[in-house]
Amino acid sequence: MHLEGSCHCGSVRFTVESAQPYPFMRCYCSICRKTAGSGGYAINLGADAATLKVFKGKRALRIYRARVGEGEQQRPSTGHRHFCGRCGSALWLWDPTWPELLHPHASAIDTPLPRPPENVHLMLGSKAAWVEPEGQPGDARFGDYPDVSLAQWHAQRELTS
Ligand SMILES: [Zn+2]
Ligand SMILES: [Zn+2]
Repeated sequence: MHLEGSCHCGSVRFTVESAQPYPFMRCYCSICRKTAGSGGYAINLGADAATLKVFKGKRALRIYRARVGEGEQQRPSTGHRHFCGRCGSALWLWDPTWPELLHPHASAIDTPLPRPPENVHLMLGSKAAWVEPEGQPGDARFGDYPDVSLAQWHAQRELTS
């Protein structure tokens, strides 16, 4: 699926091809909910990094690398969270550990996305106390990482586009 995305102020515009465009993966980790999800979670999609075209606003792009781990183990996350330096919109995550993947935030995508038949809730162990995870009764829920990847979930449901 061809996705068009932008930040809120319009400085950054991009396109990317996505084989995993269903917005089903709700991440409640502190990084996602603080940087991209005031409903208590953020939703990432799966896309092909090689097809990313930033056709407007490359100079406005900024990268946030969260500190992860505790004490002496603390280090920068390998995840490169791209956002607009003018308006602060979270745009996508790219990680050199899996350089072929790109994870756009569903919130940055302007193309109408397909409605997911169900959701997966992950990192619930990190959710804010006030957040009551919504969604559907049969949704899979995980305290930390889920047992399926974005690609596996789409493939199992034959939703790969
Ligand atoms: Zn912006
Ligand atoms: Zn997260």
